[in-house]
Amino acid sequence: MQTSDTTRTLSAGHTPAFSFEVLPPLKGTGTESLFRTIDQLKEFNPRYINITTHRSEYVYDEQEDGTFIRKRLRRRPGTIAVASAIMNKYDIKVVPHVVCSGFTKEDTEYMLLDLQFLGISEVLALRGDKAKDEARFQPVRGGHSHTTDLLKQINRFNEGFFCDGTPIKHVGTPFSFGVACYPEKHEESPNPDSDLRYLKKKQELGAKYAICQMFFDNQKYFSFVERARAHGITIPLIPALKPMTKLTQITMVPKTFHLDIPKELADEASKCKNDEDVKALGIEWGVNQCKELKAYGVEGIHFYTMSAVDSIRQIAERVF
Ligand code: FAD
Repeated sequence: MQTSDTTRTLSAGHTPAFSFEVLPPLKGTGTESLFRTIDQLKEFNPRYINITTHRSEYVYDEQEDGTFIRKRLRRRPGTIAVASAIMNKYDIKVVPHVVCSGFTKEDTEYMLLDLQFLGISEVLALRGDKAKDEARFQPVRGGHSHTTDLLKQINRFNEGFFCDGTPIKHVGTPFSFGVACYPEKHEESPNPDSDLRYLKKKQELGAKYAICQMFFDNQKYFSFVERARAHGITIPLIPALKPMTKLTQITMVPKTFHLDIPKELADEASKCKNDEDVKALGIEWGVNQCKELKAYGVEGIHFYTMSAVDSIRQIAERVF
């Protein structure tokens, strides 16, 4: 059984906790690469490993007669099983993501029940990304529009009620949960204050901490924390980093994640001749970010591992 005391786990001591996020393997590719990621990072004593959840997408296959067949495709299934496999193999705490996107309330309920059977009682609750073929986020019929609604469902489940209002016979260990936050504002939010109002709402609904979207400029994080505190947000706001590893990321990251690359980093990156140079720059930048965050007194530093495991390992060797 895992501990469900999120606050103790995330804010103990002065040394920031090292943690990271993994993705379930692409369908059919097995667990080898996933376990290799964990093997490379486990010596830094991760406090927890997050496992993302991905919705199904619809793809359109063109037929010989010019018509299209719509097919449902889930490229990365298996969040719960991956959580269980990690827990069993490594005895490291896991935090699976529960998302609204592509899931009905019943789907979420089944996920919570499965997690409870496994003794997993901490999740990261999110709205999830929009479907790739949609211009804006649309909940599935019977699904939630926002994380706040998902949190209400989890709270109701903790109180002993299914989403149709019927009582749960055996109410297990209550779930505790973290949420996401955005130092540079969520892309859809009309302004930073509006985004913080909803983060405050998530705190009121019981979120114990929030994990940040990646950022490359610590000043943005520091100013975000100040503004959040002024809004009455008291939960830990865990900084999250992803070191740059490729030349293409200089333009792709701002577009995909709606954040700025600081001028100094962009200037240095423009001098890089190849991905190797960018990787070296990303490691130096990451080490400096971590040292500054450590000095600031953050509870933990979280890492996004996709395509960056070796860089994270090199950063961790110099920081944790
Ligand atoms: P919400 O809290 O619903 O916020 C979305 C927008 O709506 C914001 O602009 C917010 O200000 C506004 N808002 C919030 N509540 C309300 C409300 N009640 N009424 C009106 N407006 C509101 N995506 C995945 O698909 N799978 C993952 O596993 C995953 N993991 C992630 C982990 C982290 C740490 C982060 C930072 C992001 C992750 N994402 C993941 C992406 C994330 O789901 C998207 O950024 C999504 O667009 C927003 O999620 P959210 O939980 O912040 O949504």
